[in-house]
Amino acid sequence: MEKEHRCVLVWFRRDLRLTDNPALTAALASAATVVPVYVHDADADGAWAPGAASRAWLHHSLKALDGELQGRGARLVIRRGATREVLPALVSEAGATAVFWNRLYEPARIAGDRDIAQTLRRSGIATASFNAALWAEPSTLGTASGTPYRVFTPFWRALSAVLPGPTVESAPEQIPTRALPSDALDSLGLQPRIGWDLGFWRHWQPGETGAITRLQTFLDTGLRGYRERRDRPADAGISRLSPHLHFGEIGPRQILAVIRGAQAGDQVPEADAEHFLRELGWREFAHHLLFHYPQTPTQPLDPAFAQFPWRKSRDYADDLRAWQRGETGVPLVDAGMRELWATGWMHNRVRMVAASFLTKNLLIPWQEGARWFWDALVDADLANNTLGWQWVAGCGADAAPYFRIFNPLLQARKFDPGGDYVRRWAPDAGRGVVDPVADLAATRQRALDAYAQTRRR
Ligand SMILES: Cc1cc2nc3c(=O)[nH]c(=O)nc-3n(C[C@H](O)[C@H](O)[C@H](O)COP(=O)(O)OP(=O)(O)OC[C@H]3O[C@@H](n4cnc5c(N)ncnc54)[C@H](O)[C@@H]3O)c2cc1C
Repeated sequence: MEKEHRCVLVWFRRDLRLTDNPALTAALASAATVVPVYVHDADADGAWAPGAASRAWLHHSLKALDGELQGRGARLVIRRGATREVLPALVSEAGATAVFWNRLYEPARIAGDRDIAQTLRRSGIATASFNAALWAEPSTLGTASGTPYRVFTPFWRALSAVLPGPTVESAPEQIPTRALPSDALDSLGLQPRIGWDLGFWRHWQPGETGAITRLQTFLDTGLRGYRERRDRPADAGISRLSPHLHFGEIGPRQILAVIRGAQAGDQVPEADAEHFLRELGWREFAHHLLFHYPQTPTQPLDPAFAQFPWRKSRDYADDLRAWQRGETGVPLVDAGMRELWATGWMHNRVRMVAASFLTKNLLIPWQEGARWFWDALVDADLANNTLGWQWVAGCGADAAPYFRIFNPLLQARKFDPGGDYVRRWAPDAGRGVVDPVADLAATRQRALDAYAQTRRR
């Protein structure tokens, strides 16, 4: 069919942007009309359906995407239901000949995409998929012996050699479309019924414009000194791009292009820029690991940890609740857990300390912490969350050695020396209002004994 008669559906998922969106670019290049669609399918993510904070973010992000599309003459067509039924129905309503999308890397999504591609092709509908989310897709990198990477430094070396160039596709000015009826965004029920998330939006602006503003602010005020400042939770020297990256409101290629531009203009110290890019490298590493080890959201990568003597759930329920509520009596941990309640996000240094306290001092399985973060974080991301928890618990790829146990009091002294962060989020903490739920020295020893026992097996 000639281009002037062709219509293509662009199936948006977690690529909620118009800039540097290869599926959209390809659709516009090959068809006269493009119909942007979003399918709300409760089963699409298997056991890892988005948590409450993620859903709240998604609501605002879809609204923002629809706004961007409307500014270009199109609309986001939202439909509820099973993807394998909804997409073919939309194709026939639109008179489309093809469906284009950008790839995802979670096991449930990989299986689902394979299924939907087969379903569509069987009905004579063409499909094409693209990479919008990563500098290098997981299947393209491997060690010399052809195995996946399990250590970050060689992974980073290999990735650095194949980084994309500095040009990215800009957002289209117009999107010629065919109007189709849409379900109302509110009918998806993404927003909480009681507005516990209302405070979040003082801290965040979901959507592509918010993401680009955030990157610019980071460039202006955060990147200089990033290498040291990134560890201090009271400091603004980090990008806070994680939820925007998770939902694909901005892509890593765009970020790379902006950073390379700043480097070329001598606007930022080289060491800070490189360190920031390396952190984005950890995000790529996390996707590499999840793709090659799809069992890791629930199973330790290091099989020795399958036998680890964690406490039993009936014994730790009260401690888990205290941790979730930010009532452990350990100031930095409580401040972090309350920052999470208030904003849907937590600083990386504090994530590490809070996760270490849960897994080592409280000897609660890391999977409990990962599930809580999954529900509470606006940036909850299966790859990054799995890597983070397994790294702290000592059972993942390139993990912190198990015997290196963070002391949360020393961590606070080192990284929050003026106590600003703790005062901001947990002003009552440290004043002896709550007795610590764990004796730090005794529980540290208990964790070391448990580890020694695991290693002897
Ligand atoms: C226990 C634990 C759980 C975590 N869960 C998540 C999660 O669910 N989602 C998530 O995006 N990050 C997670 N992280 C990683 C990290 O804490 C966040 O990415 C970071 O705090 C986001 O803040 P930022 O955007 O300001 O980061 P910046 O320092 O500005 O870094 C820029 C980007 O690089 C990526 N990045 C940075 N550090 C890491 C890292 N250690 N691992 C993977 N990617 C990284 C993120 O995409 C981040 O937005 C977790 C870390 C730990 C220790």
